[in-house]
Amino acid sequence: MKALVAVKRVVDYNVKVRVKADGTDVDVANVKMSMNPFDEIAVEEAVRLKEAGKVSEIVVVSLGVKQCEETLRTALAMGADRAILVETDAELQPLAVAKLLKAIADKEQPQLLIVGKQAIDDDANQTGQMVSALLGWGQGTFASKVDLSAETVDVTREVDGGLETVKLRLPAVVTTDLRLNEPRYVKLPNIMAAKKKPLDKTSPADLGVDVAPRLKTLKVAEPAKRSAGIKVANAAELVAKLKNEAKVL
Ligand code: AMP
Repeated sequence: MKALVAVKRVVDYNVKVRVKADGTDVDVANVKMSMNPFDEIAVEEAVRLKEAGKVSEIVVVSLGVKQCEETLRTALAMGADRAILVETDAELQPLAVAKLLKAIADKEQPQLLIVGKQAIDDDANQTGQMVSALLGWGQGTFASKVDLSAETVDVTREVDGGLETVKLRLPAVVTTDLRLNEPRYVKLPNIMAAKKKPLDKTSPADLGVDVAPRLKTLKVAEPAKRSAGIKVANAAELVAKLKNEAKVL
C-alpha cells in the first residue's frame, strides 16, 4: 500500500514572527524555516505504518519554492522512500494546494493521503478537507490514532466531548493532530542516506493546475501589546483591584 504525505516548509515554531512595516504580511527574510510540526507527525505516522508492514512505499510531496527540497530531504531522512517537489514561487492558498495534491494523487494513486491538520504559518486548517472533497475520498481529520487495514482505516479523532472513531473506506485522507505520535529524532547516517533518495520535480503548469489566489489579504497586524503584570500582597488586595481598577467584580 502506498502512502502520500504532504509536507510544508514554514517558519520554525520557535521563531517570533514580525509583521512587515507596510502591514502586508509577516517578514520571513532571514528567518529559520522548518517542516510544519503537524507534517512531521504525518511523516512519522507513515513511517510507523511502514515499519508495521502495513505500508510499502511512502512518497512525500512539498509545494513551493526551491528550498522546500530541504524539507523533503528531512522527510526522506525520517524514512520516506521518495519525494516530489512541485516547484513554484507563487503564493499558494489552500485551494491551490488541494488541487495540486489531487493532481499528484491522481498520478500516484496512493491508498492513504496524510496531511497535517493545519500549517502553523497561515493556520488555515483547510487543505485536508478540500483535497478530500476534490478527490471524493473520505476524511478522518484531527487524528490521534490511526488503525490501518487492507481496505479500511479507523481514525480516532479529538473532538470537544472526547474521542470519536470513524471507519473510512480506502483510499482516504487523514489529517494529523498533536497527540498522534512523537516524531523521531533524525540521525546523521539517515540524513546522509536521504541525499541519495529520489526527488522528482514538477510544476503547477505541468500538473495543469491554476494556482491563482482566490483570496486577498487586506491587512496583517501584530496582536495588541499586553501591559506588564503586577504582584499583589494578598487576596484582599486582589479583590480590591478587581473591583476598583479592573471593574470586573
Ligand atoms: P493548511 O490547510 O494550510 O492549514 O495546511 C494543512 C496541511 O496541508 C499542512 O499541514 C500540510 O500537510 C498541507 N500543506 C499545506 N500547504 C502545503 C504546501 N505548500 N506544501 C505541502 N503541503 C502543504
